Amino acid sequence: MKEGQTHIKNTGLNLERMKAHFLEIVQIDSLSKKEKAVALVLQKQLEAIGVSVSYDDAGEAIGGEIGNMIARLPATDPGRPPLLLSAHMDTVVPGEGIKPICEGDVIRSDGTTILGGDDKSGISIIFEVLRTLTEKKIPHGEIEVVLTICEEYGLVGAKHLDISKLHSKSGIVLDCDHANFLFTRSPASDRLEFTIHGIAAHAGVCPEEGISAIQIAAEAISRMPLGRIDSETTANVGVIEGGAAVNIVPKTVFLRAESRSHNKEKLAAQTERMRACFQEAVEKFSVEIKGKRLQGRVEENIWRDYNPIKLPDNAPIVRAVLQAAQKCGYSVKTNATGGGCDANIFNEKGITVPNLGTGMHQIHTVHEWVSVSEMNQTAHVIFEVVKTFGK
Ligand SMILES: [Zn+2]
Repeated sequence: MKEGQTHIKNTGLNLERMKAHFLEIVQIDSLSKKEKAVALVLQKQLEAIGVSVSYDDAGEAIGGEIGNMIARLPATDPGRPPLLLSAHMDTVVPGEGIKPICEGDVIRSDGTTILGGDDKSGISIIFEVLRTLTEKKIPHGEIEVVLTICEEYGLVGAKHLDISKLHSKSGIVLDCDHANFLFTRSPASDRLEFTIHGIAAHAGVCPEEGISAIQIAAEAISRMPLGRIDSETTANVGVIEGGAAVNIVPKTVFLRAESRSHNKEKLAAQTERMRACFQEAVEKFSVEIKGKRLQGRVEENIWRDYNPIKLPDNAPIVRAVLQAAQKCGYSVKTNATGGGCDANIFNEKGITVPNLGTGMHQIHTVHEWVSVSEMNQTAHVIFEVVKTFGK
């Protein structure tokens, strides 16, 4: 990324230090619910630069090792509004024993694990900005840093975050790919779980006395609109488990699915369609035993996982990021993503946060890599935002 590299020398940040920090923390395992080791290292580093660190009780609530980290760098210019910077500490699997490899502008894993650039690139960017601010004694408002747990485990760290502990009304989440994108729109998502109950029977001796839960599931799924529904809406059946043996008509099947849309009405319609497919499929199959007509049944569990983000381009924090990027010479644009992240939860709870890309790529795969120059660009932009926000 040429554009980013031309600015490396002039950012005012210590980019070698940021890279070294990133390489250090990706080598500390931090799967969801197991973030304590990395949190303690990060805590020490923050306290060394005068940032106070505390944890909430989210870890206890969800059975994890440690809670969300809430860190505070006091204002040196108290007239300015507080600003939230956030990233998540946990990673997906396979994420243990990560060995980062540097090749020019690229840092990747050795191909046996993910890299953990999602989201440790965001953490290292935040740390470099804080270190430079304090070193150079640059005036700024209060900076609140929230490093969440369990983002990859259904955003549950952010969901359990007690927002009343925070002063910020706006901020930036650093948790997406391209450094030139500021994500200001993200879909809402529903989660759906179905348990289909059929009737077990010997598959060879008396199959006519059974109702196959697998057949009901197949019937339902084959009639279900899935994948890309329209430009705003997607749906997926992601998990299916069931059956006991080849010679038994299967009694139970369990399925997990999701639907997403930038449009709440479309989301409601898609979720209802998926639900109805199971109800209709159940009704198609019945058996008569001892003069009695028997049917299968479906149990459902459906809930809103997160709500959408829809920030206007003239929201003050969005303008602040775009103006900072422009001033630094980057062409950052607002964009829509099909993914959800902690930013959905912060916005739902009343803190306005767009999500700025950090330079992580092919995330959630063993091919994951980060672009150092893109990390530099985003650090430069965040540094500029913090220097000017509310001035
Ligand atoms: Zn992430």
